[in-house]
Amino acid sequence: MPYFDPILTLQDRLPQGLKPLAPLSFNYWWTWSGQQLRLFNTIDHQLWEACHHNPVLFLQKVSRERLDAVATDPDYVQMVQTLMVRFRQYMQFQDCPLAPQISPERPVAYFCAEFGLHESLPIYSGGLGILAGDHLKSASDLALPLVGVGLLYRQGYFRQRLNRQGWQEDYYIDNQFSDLPLELMRSPTGEPLTLTVEIRGRQVVAQIWRVRVGRTDLYLMDSDVAENDPIDRWLTGHLYGGNQETRIAQEVLLGIGGVRLLQTLGLEPGVYHLNEGHAAFALLEVARGEMARTGQSFYGVEGQVRQKCVFTTHTPVPAGHDAFSPDLMDSFFASYWPQLHLSREQFLALGARRLGDPWEPFNMTVLALRLTRAANGVSQLHGEVSRQMWSILYPDQPVAQVPIGAITNGVHAQTWTAPLVSELFRTYVHPEWETHLPDPELWVRVSQIPDRELWQRHQTLKQRLISYTRSHLFTSREQRGETPEQLEAIARWLDPQVLTIGFARRFSPYKRGHLIIRDPERAKRLLTHSERPVQLIFAGKAHPADEEGKRIIQRLMEWCRDPDIQPRVAFIEDYDMHTARALVQGVDLWLNNPRRPLEASGTSGQKVCFNGGINFSVLDGWWCEGYQAGVNGWAIGEDLHTSNQELQDQLDSESLYRLLENEIIPMYYDRDGEGLPRQWLQRMKASIRTNIPRFNTARMVQDYINHIYAPSPELALSGKG
Ligand SMILES: *Cc1c(COP(=O)(O)O)cnc(C)c1O
Repeated sequence: MPYFDPILTLQDRLPQGLKPLAPLSFNYWWTWSGQQLRLFNTIDHQLWEACHHNPVLFLQKVSRERLDAVATDPDYVQMVQTLMVRFRQYMQFQDCPLAPQISPERPVAYFCAEFGLHESLPIYSGGLGILAGDHLKSASDLALPLVGVGLLYRQGYFRQRLNRQGWQEDYYIDNQFSDLPLELMRSPTGEPLTLTVEIRGRQVVAQIWRVRVGRTDLYLMDSDVAENDPIDRWLTGHLYGGNQETRIAQEVLLGIGGVRLLQTLGLEPGVYHLNEGHAAFALLEVARGEMARTGQSFYGVEGQVRQKCVFTTHTPVPAGHDAFSPDLMDSFFASYWPQLHLSREQFLALGARRLGDPWEPFNMTVLALRLTRAANGVSQLHGEVSRQMWSILYPDQPVAQVPIGAITNGVHAQTWTAPLVSELFRTYVHPEWETHLPDPELWVRVSQIPDRELWQRHQTLKQRLISYTRSHLFTSREQRGETPEQLEAIARWLDPQVLTIGFARRFSPYKRGHLIIRDPERAKRLLTHSERPVQLIFAGKAHPADEEGKRIIQRLMEWCRDPDIQPRVAFIEDYDMHTARALVQGVDLWLNNPRRPLEASGTSGQKVCFNGGINFSVLDGWWCEGYQAGVNGWAIGEDLHTSNQELQDQLDSESLYRLLENEIIPMYYDRDGEGLPRQWLQRMKASIRTNIPRFNTARMVQDYINHIYAPSPELALSGKG
């Protein structure tokens, strides 16, 4: 069907020698191929930036002259050819030897409301999406048969800009699907493949797009088709936008539609993995299918459903779990529960935390826990918190026996490691370090990296981060209408010789983005110290409905208006994966100070370790497992826990300042005759050596295979199944 194939169409446009760029641009593998910095950037740097690193749009727009120029550059053509050979080798099918129960015919179906693969596909909001993206990439690396299932949002997550008052303004940009590395799934005769779900009394049609992530396919549903009512066409308009009604409608499409999507494509999953509760309605549709297949009742097939389905929870507070009022459930499911041959009461009981209360909301996590054979939290501490929180569902079991285990999150090594650092690992750790991540013996060799070499590369990355930050500041301040003199000053802000602290993540109040300015005068003294100053780079969005989060950003912006502070603080607007990479690769120290235990895992601090950065964090989420006192980083407020929030903030900020003043800053500025901070470098190496083997998604996906997807009996997590 060449006519319908966007890859072939693009290939036609490219001169001989560059034709491999078409298949490469339609597979996100290029983003972790090792050539991600050169591949497209070399052709036309400005256009590449203007296209926001979207290779498909870029190759459609780039001029004939530029293409012809690189097509006659033997080095470039050679690089493309070599990459294509590696790509072909990578894509060659091999069964995952570790999970014989899972096969290409019976893959894992991985459901998630958001996927963060790359900045060019903005359908993610934060940690959950990035984790899902990294999960797909490592599944591909391990040749684990797995397909992703999600929604394709026309406008994705909101974009952020700050006005002169430091207040966050939200706006949206349309994604042009035909300009992205997306392929519309079609029948052999060229018709788009679709699925239908009844939502709000109407038959809603969704078409299906494929995103290639190495060997893994991600399928995304899109309801913006002509047959649909205008309201339904906006169903996949925004990620986490709208009210409860939009939310439940999207979750019906994601869950029930997702199961139908797999049927439409002829896929029969061996395992359904629900990553967070958003997709839990899938369980009902799996049950409906089993009932039709076996002729049994809902309760008759419950066991079979459970056998096929697994669940990962990500939220350590009860209020964070999606729950819908009985009214809302009525309006979305009154025609669905009869198809399960259930009464309204029986149906609503599936999502009720407590039975017998007619106002009890329908909780997606409760539904997921009831109908899956394995459930896990995303760090050991989060597992514990989850067992406590959901013990109400298991009244006959002691809390420790509540069947929720834990698999600690990780990150995808090649996505987050700077090529400059990756080269060091190749030389001193292992020529194929990327495929030997979980081997702690290997990482001992990090000590062989010469201090000078590590430091120089780190400083180069820091300098890059600073240039990147300045250019962002320039653009956003220009848009805010600042004077040429004001703009000109930006070139003197930030200094690569200064200890650089990064703080970037969603600005949810529990993450306490302004803890470091709890005592504004003390913070100012740290930043403006004449010999040993500190500089801060922030980034992150507050959800559009989160006024408190927006106020936190505003307070930071107000604080840094002080002319003494200004040159030492930057806020990069519109946080995304590109900014995240620049930050985690360039900072000296990564600050994370959530209210414990609200950070289920956190992953941004793990990304920093892959680049030699050091963590400075509250002992929450993954850091409880990673932190080694006096060795690989620092812990804020180590053992001081109280339920009084005000007091906790006081204690934690006090600890934060004291550690900076007494340990961190002195160590950073303690230089030997060669100008090297030897002790600091020791800690950088320890951060690499102790964290990389554990906090990567190769280990994580392997854990999912061993304990969740295809467990041998002795490895299954906890008592379920
Ligand atoms: C890694 C990442 C996150 C997650 O950050 P946490 O600090 O773990 O919450 C959020 N957003 C982006 C863009 C990321 O890359």
